[in-house]
Amino acid sequence: MAMLFAGGLVYDGTGAPPVRADVLTVDGRIAEVDTVATYPEGTKRVDCAGLAVAPGFIDLHSHSDLQVLENRREKPLQGVTTEVVGNCGFSPYPCGDHEADVREFANSIFRGGARAWRYGSAREYLDAVARQAELIAVESLVGHGSLRVALFGNRQDELTAAELDALGACLDDALASGAAGFSTGLMYAPGSCAPFSELARLCGTVTRRGKLYATHMRSYSFQLLEAIDEQVNLAFASGCRLQVSHLQAVGHLNWDKQARALDKLEEARRMGIDAEFDIYPYQAGSTVLTQLLPQSALDGGTAAMLGRLRNPDERRAIAREAVAGMAQRFSDVFIASVATEANQTVVGQHLETIGAARGVDPIEAAIDLIIEEQGLVNMISFNQSEENLRALLTHPLCSVISDGFYVNGRPHPRLHGTFPFLLGEIVRERKWMPLEVAIHKITAKPAARLGLTDRGYLRPGLRADITVFDPARVAGPASYENPEQDPVGIVGVWRAS
Ligand SMILES: [Zn+2]
Repeated sequence: MAMLFAGGLVYDGTGAPPVRADVLTVDGRIAEVDTVATYPEGTKRVDCAGLAVAPGFIDLHSHSDLQVLENRREKPLQGVTTEVVGNCGFSPYPCGDHEADVREFANSIFRGGARAWRYGSAREYLDAVARQAELIAVESLVGHGSLRVALFGNRQDELTAAELDALGACLDDALASGAAGFSTGLMYAPGSCAPFSELARLCGTVTRRGKLYATHMRSYSFQLLEAIDEQVNLAFASGCRLQVSHLQAVGHLNWDKQARALDKLEEARRMGIDAEFDIYPYQAGSTVLTQLLPQSALDGGTAAMLGRLRNPDERRAIAREAVAGMAQRFSDVFIASVATEANQTVVGQHLETIGAARGVDPIEAAIDLIIEEQGLVNMISFNQSEENLRALLTHPLCSVISDGFYVNGRPHPRLHGTFPFLLGEIVRERKWMPLEVAIHKITAKPAARLGLTDRGYLRPGLRADITVFDPARVAGPASYENPEQDPVGIVGVWRAS
């Protein structure tokens, strides 16, 4: 089948200014980008006058591992044609001997509680993708946390040499059977307990397979710079290509650290390390509320954590450590979702208000909520300054991501809004960068990070993944208060199947 995208402003993905041209696609491939005079009979014509024609967007970092199989529309509606899942150490495989533990671990991010999903290996998951995912192309990273839990359960002790061998072999198998890379989540137990030596060993496997290593580092707040150093050393020691996931300096006390963090990545590149980073275009972040607790509180999984929180002495110590480790104010942390009907009233409120209403300190309110919800509470936290966000988004090493995940309640607006928000609010309204540069950060740049050579540009021979939008109208109206709003101005999305 042939299609002619006629007379649009063509943004080719390179970051070069647009040219007025036609794009002809034939049988799922781009055939011509030019003034197309002749085309096959029966070619379907899409009039693109006044519209932007771009490569399909690539979301380099999401947590839709299960939802891509359900053909959810949130990402395709934003112009996304390829989505990368398996981030921050969470992948829905392997399952190994500890199937239920893997599900409990990963469901904190996946919202997959209702389905007893099970994928024994990367191959099984990727086969399910091939059968079921019809709206989007999926690339999957092997999550370090899932891998570790699958093989050894939710344990926080150091692995033996034989256990490390088994971990390495399992990772190698997943990469060999089609996983796009490896991710760590070093703020999520049990991945957080892995020493440098374990990570270096696994990253060596990633290097040998020529894949990408993406990391949710050990800290984005008080220890941000130490965390960057560790990752740079890891890339240096193992030779892997490093992607620092959702780079930012969390909490006003740490905002001055961000410039130094960027310097460190640039220094690493001067030393020959292939290091880049990504971020979503919003000032607030979103994760599970248990992230406020010290990692030691999470050892052994949810039941063990709840046991500790119910013990008055342990609870007191955990609360003290949590408060000492917080970079945000309690008024910066909003409850995004809870599992029970009884607590729905706290959704949308910040911890200070919830504490005041309950007549307890905000940290006690947070711990009570974690107990009442069996750990299933998500938060939205206002972490970043606008100035720092701008410095990140406009940095030449930055890809723009959604980091979106689904919740039972109010999701972060990035789930429904990221890409049109970038093109509308950040580019057109705030004028932080030219449109062609923003498009590069969501097409060719993430494709290059993944080593995908068949997409990311509008160029003859590449996949006919194409997004057409109206630069004058494009917008992502999803907000913190009302996040489930569809994008505006995305005219059409075509994906080569
Ligand atoms: Zn993360």
